[in-house]
Amino acid sequence: NQPLAAASALIQGSVRLLDYDPPEIIEVRDALGLAADQVLRAGDIIRSLRSLVAKGSHKRELQDIGVLLREVGALSMLGMRHPDIRLIYEIPPEPCLAIIDRVQIQQVVFNLTRNAMEAMSDSPVRNLTLGLAADLSGWLTVSVQDTGPGVDPEIVARLFEAFVTTKSDGMGVGLSISRTIVEEHGGKIWSETAPDGGAIFRFTLDPFGGGGDGRRQSNRVAS
Ligand code: ADP
Repeated sequence: NQPLAAASALIQGSVRLLDYDPPEIIEVRDALGLAADQVLRAGDIIRSLRSLVAKGSHKRELQDIGVLLREVGALSMLGMRHPDIRLIYEIPPEPCLAIIDRVQIQQVVFNLTRNAMEAMSDSPVRNLTLGLAADLSGWLTVSVQDTGPGVDPEIVARLFEAFVTTKSDGMGVGLSISRTIVEEHGGKIWSETAPDGGAIFRFTLDPFGGGGDGRRQSNRVAS
């Protein structure tokens, strides 16, 4: 977040300098040059995070995704600001297995549940549903559904791009990193609007960790 905060401070400072009479053009020029450097640095950080994600692929092991969802659900409820959230699991009783990097997939689910909880902070009904379904070929679909206001239509087309945020303290990288992780596992991630207007985020997981028949890879969400 640091380079973005620095760039924002430099740009705000520049606006103030332009209000001077006469405006401090030389200082503004310097400050904007520094701000541009910081924005490029933020881009470098995202790129190196992405390559870290790609390098993590050798740590994959067979995991029960239902167990993982319950663990992340319980963790998310700890230390949260809204204790009146109702956590609902829609997870089949039998094991749903996939070869994954456990820490990375936990991170994706954690990002989605945290976003869902934040989205419901002003909602009268706060239900968070963690769902899991398997199709006949063993592909898994994880869903995280909330009863918040849904995704802002202004950003829906750019939702999974880096630095897209509607939060004053947001960095807008959670969904971008989540997409990279899911695609590294051979799956795809997307959002939908629930019938009650809340948001549903879904992602698919190849049971073979991206080494299956690759059938769904052509359906990847465009970047
Ligand atoms: P951040 O949380 O830092 O903003 P994210 O990449 O995780 O970054 O999310 C980007 C944006 O997507 C959020 O600022 C918010 O506008 C929107 N968003 C994500 N999850 C939800 C949700 N469950 N309901 C409504 N909007 C959401």
